[in-house]
Amino acid sequence: MRFVIAVIRHETNTFSPIPTPLGAFSRGTGVVGPAYGEAAVAACRGTACAAAAFMDIARAQGDEFVMPLLASAVPSGTVTAQAFESMAATVLEAIGEGCDAVMLDLHGAMVAEGFPDAEGELLRRIRAIAPTMPIAVALDFHANLSAVLMAHATVITGYCTYPHTDMYETGVRAARTLMASLRGNAEPRILWRTLPMLTHMLCQTPSRQPMKDIMDRAMRAEADGEVLNASVFGGFPLADIPHVGLGLVVVAEAGRLEAARRLLDELAEMAWARREDFVYAGEALERTIAHAKTLRDGPILLVDHGDNCGAGGPTDNMRVLREVFDQGLDDVIAGPFWDPQAVARIIEAGTGSELTLEVGGKTDMPALGLKGEPLKLSGRVRCITDGNYRVTGPMFTGVQLSLGRTAVIDVRGVSVMVCEKPQEPFDAGVFTHAGLDPAKARYVLIKSRQHFRAGFEQGAKHILMVAGPGVCSSDYALFPFRHLRRPIYPLDADAALAHTLCYEAPATETA
Ligand SMILES: [Zn+2]
Repeated sequence: MRFVIAVIRHETNTFSPIPTPLGAFSRGTGVVGPAYGEAAVAACRGTACAAAAFMDIARAQGDEFVMPLLASAVPSGTVTAQAFESMAATVLEAIGEGCDAVMLDLHGAMVAEGFPDAEGELLRRIRAIAPTMPIAVALDFHANLSAVLMAHATVITGYCTYPHTDMYETGVRAARTLMASLRGNAEPRILWRTLPMLTHMLCQTPSRQPMKDIMDRAMRAEADGEVLNASVFGGFPLADIPHVGLGLVVVAEAGRLEAARRLLDELAEMAWARREDFVYAGEALERTIAHAKTLRDGPILLVDHGDNCGAGGPTDNMRVLREVFDQGLDDVIAGPFWDPQAVARIIEAGTGSELTLEVGGKTDMPALGLKGEPLKLSGRVRCITDGNYRVTGPMFTGVQLSLGRTAVIDVRGVSVMVCEKPQEPFDAGVFTHAGLDPAKARYVLIKSRQHFRAGFEQGAKHILMVAGPGVCSSDYALFPFRHLRRPIYPLDADAALAHTLCYEAPATETA
């Protein structure tokens, strides 16, 4: 058999001021922009991504495959129309050359100019040229499910973890059902729902309640053979599009749809009953930093979750670092902050030199009415690096990452890391490659929300979530939502009524 395997991954924060052109799809490719063909295969091989599982399975079966595209971008603003058209055309061309099935490693929360449901549009186009083609799709846990995507896929699975440490396994799960179907041993049907819930990402992780029981139930149903696949999606709430919500997808054997519907009902009831537990209430950042000062043992992780590039933040907001200086915290590693201009200035000054410069605050966030505010720092240049490191932790294991040129400047007991490319710290390599040891610092200030846990949770004595300002804020009252389906919980008090209707309640059966 011959398969087309492709990767397009982007989580779009429609409030983010960071544009997303084709060149941004360079995560793990080693070049500016996506990798194509043999270069895509080489970049994907040996990584822990869903597409690597697709390739391994095809190879193990002695089947042929092509990988026209590996395109993965750090979360940011809306994808340009040109980037979307280019990526879609590359995938469609490969499928047009003929294959027996398609395996896609997608995110599920990509918004492109003109296409609020970019993955759905991609699947619609594939279906238009290949009406009966089996299509397996692995999605991120933060996918926002749309009717179009569901209607055109044959198999869908989603990550069961957050931080996402089961990407490879998610690919295996999708491919297993697809292969069974290709051999005539299964007749998969997709049943799905989304609930009118704008959940808080800080309350979504399946490793804890309220999500744990829901995800455990879904995973058990799949492991026990009750259904072919079952996935729960937290959804990505920082997108002003209609199809945001908590999602449920069951892939069921055609002859066993009743059991699958009952499972969907059960999962939906559980999620809705727990809706209040999916709401996060933070405290003022000044209070959190003051609390951090009273703690004894380090490392103490300070996690600024308002400006996280893992969810579309520019990572150049300096408000929390300013507070760290104002309250006099000592023995701190902080960063990486995104500021190519500051990096250039520091490199010009050179290692060991003293300088004063303004760092960060280059980006305005007009969607939230926030102006960029740089922070003036005076200190000594500790080191300069090329920003390259290979992930050794459990998330994106083996992927070669680059912060671009990177510099560390020591300022009054704080080692401030500044880089050319925004990157969420989910692996200790982000610091250790520059000789900073986060296991030995008293405080580690990072911009993340949940993925930091992959590389930093173990060994941390305390973890404090800090409500810094930015486009990833957990305070939904700050966001000018205009296109969400309403009512939706918790923005609308009467969302309970919507539950009885439940979006997309009937099973959608694929062709
Ligand atoms: Zn995600």
